[in-house]
Order: sequence, then structure tokens, then C-alpha cells
Amino acid sequence: MAMRLYDTARQEIVDLELNDHVQMYVCGITPYDSTHLGHAATYLTYDLIIRRLEDRGHTVELVRNVTDVDDSILPKARELGIDFLELAESEMDRFNQDLEALNTRPANLEPRATESIAGMIELIGSLESSGHTYTTDGITYFDVETFTSFGKLSHLTTDEMVALARERGGSPDDPRQRNPLDFVLWQPSADDEPRWDSPFGPGRPGWHIECSAMSMDALGTTIDIHGGGGDLIFPHHECEIAQSESVTGEPFSRYWVHAGLVAYQGTKMSKSLGNLVFVSDLRQQIDPRAIRLALMAHRYRFDFEWFDEEAQRAQSDLELLVRAGGGADPVNHGQLIDEVRDALDDDLDTPRIRTALLTAAQSIEDHADPLSSGCLIAAASLCGIELR
Ligand SMILES: [Zn+2]
Repeated sequence: MAMRLYDTARQEIVDLELNDHVQMYVCGITPYDSTHLGHAATYLTYDLIIRRLEDRGHTVELVRNVTDVDDSILPKARELGIDFLELAESEMDRFNQDLEALNTRPANLEPRATESIAGMIELIGSLESSGHTYTTDGITYFDVETFTSFGKLSHLTTDEMVALARERGGSPDDPRQRNPLDFVLWQPSADDEPRWDSPFGPGRPGWHIECSAMSMDALGTTIDIHGGGGDLIFPHHECEIAQSESVTGEPFSRYWVHAGLVAYQGTKMSKSLGNLVFVSDLRQQIDPRAIRLALMAHRYRFDFEWFDEEAQRAQSDLELLVRAGGGADPVNHGQLIDEVRDALDDDLDTPRIRTALLTAAQSIEDHADPLSSGCLIAAASLCGIELR
């Protein structure tokens, strides 16, 4: 039986048909603020997929980029009065510490946008020579009229795409654009912004072209699995497809897997509302393994709300698991690990896994069965929770 995941483009749960070596690209952070619970939920999702694929005998090559130049990091650096690369450096350190504490597999490669500009310029050049771009006021745009299947990932109507573009960093109302859905490939930099020389004038790349170039540089024309938060489906990933496939004529990714967004106690979690739940703060309150366990209570691809009391509940659940594990040697077979494997294969049914682990732990506490302790340790470990 294949592992099954929900594919955003096909809009259904599909069997993953994969070679032994799997190439995965997951959009990384813009390092201008600390890792919050939404990031943690996203990166834990791909970590679980990687762990299960490795358990099934695949090797997985994970590329996770760093968007260290874009429209959000530059204003933040300006506000703090520091160089944007200095800000990127310190936030990347914090991000990596948070992900390491959460026991996620490190990426095989973490390309940085500022170190990948040559690839972006080359890609824009190919788009230009094949008639997919136009330039107005020094800004080079992608012309969506030249890519007839624009919208095939998100399945949104034009009106919905325009509204989302407006909300998520696009400029659909800019009269310089021929179509409201056209997007920036290259733009002049403001006076205090970084700039690179290019055939399109000195300037800096648009956000979407960064990931197309970094992905194709690292993993070639077609990747197996592309991931990221659900808010990247449109416009970011839709635009990545349009740019990449316009140049290569090949599918950009075979599967598209997206993680849901996290709200906070009934409100959208956002920087402007000041209600972000930071992983570094949670780590002060509870064991990072409990953060993993808490997030497993939610199915990865649906948006969910986080409530503060979940943290303490997860901490006591973790303590139960640790007691029941009792430092036993892992036993990699048996009913419990079979159920965990089944649930991971079933579109990452982590709530079912969490219940199975806690039920097993409770019965071990009640009956003290050493073999079950070893099974519990192995089953939790498959989900990245080391009980020993
Ligand atoms: Zn991206």
C-alpha cells in the first residue's frame, strides 16, 4: 500500500508513486521575525512525511529556502535600523534552534535568495526570450495571458485570485499591469534597498521567481513533492508553476502538499494583531516534545485554533508517555507501530496516532508490560518524539 496524501492540484487524496530517492522542496521562512506556531505546524508536517518515507525505505532530499530579500524583510530591517542581512542572520539562527529543539530533520540544502540571484536572472531571461514578460517603468512582469493554465493549482476564480493577490503582496490595482494577476519578476530597488545588476536594469527580484530559481537550481526541472503553508497556494505557488513550466514545458512538481493555518483562541494569528505564539516562548513553558504532541492533535491540512490550555495538557500527556516508555529498548514491530504507520500513510492522521500512543501508555501504566514499553518507544520515535 502506498502512502496517501491530499494533493492540492488534484483536489483529492492520492497514492504517492515515488522512486527510491524523493526530492522535496518546502518554502522556507522570510527571516524577519521569530518562529511561531504556524511555522512549527508546517515544518512538522513535512518532517512527518520525511520520517515515514524514510521508514518505508526511501531517501529524501529536502531543500528549504530562505527568503532573505523580499517585501517584508526590507521594511522590518529599515524599522530596526539594521542591515537586512544582519536581521536575516539572527532570525535564521533562532529559527534553526527552534526547529532543532522540535527534532525536525535538517534540510539537505538551505539556499538563500541573496546567494541565488544569478539563477533568477537567468530564468527571467529565458522567460523574456520566450515572450512571457513585459516591462513597464523599469518593472519586469510575468504576463499571465501567456500561461493558459494559470489557476490550475488553486482552482480559484479570477475574482478570488485578484482578491487574494491584493491581500498577499501582489499589486492587482497597479495600472502599469496589463492584467491584475500579472506579477513582478524584477523591479528597481528603493534608494536604501539592496540592488543587483541585471539585463533588466539594476534592482531586485520579485518574491515568486526566487523559489522557482532556487528549486530548479537544487533539484532540477520536476520535483516530487512541493510543500508550504496553505497561504502560499495562491499567489506564491501558482506563480511558481507559471514561471517554471513556461520555461521547461515540464510539470514543476508531481505532488503539492499544503499545511493548514493556525489561529489563536478565536482570532487570526498575525503580526499586526500582536498575538503570535512563538515557539521560543512555548519552549520556556513546556518540553519541545510536548509541542510536537500538541500539534499532532490537529490534522495537518485543516486550519485550526490554538488555545493556551493545550500546552499544559500536552505536557502531562508527554509525561505519561515518558513514564510508560520507562527507558525500554525500542521494539520495531507489533500492533502499535503498525497502527502508527497505517495512520501516517492515511494522509497523516496524527490525531489517531496521538490517541493510539496515549491509550497504549495508559494501559502500560495500568498493567506494566515491558514489551509494550519498547513498542511505545519505537512508535513515538517514528513520529519524532524520543521518549528515552
Ligand atoms: Zn517559496
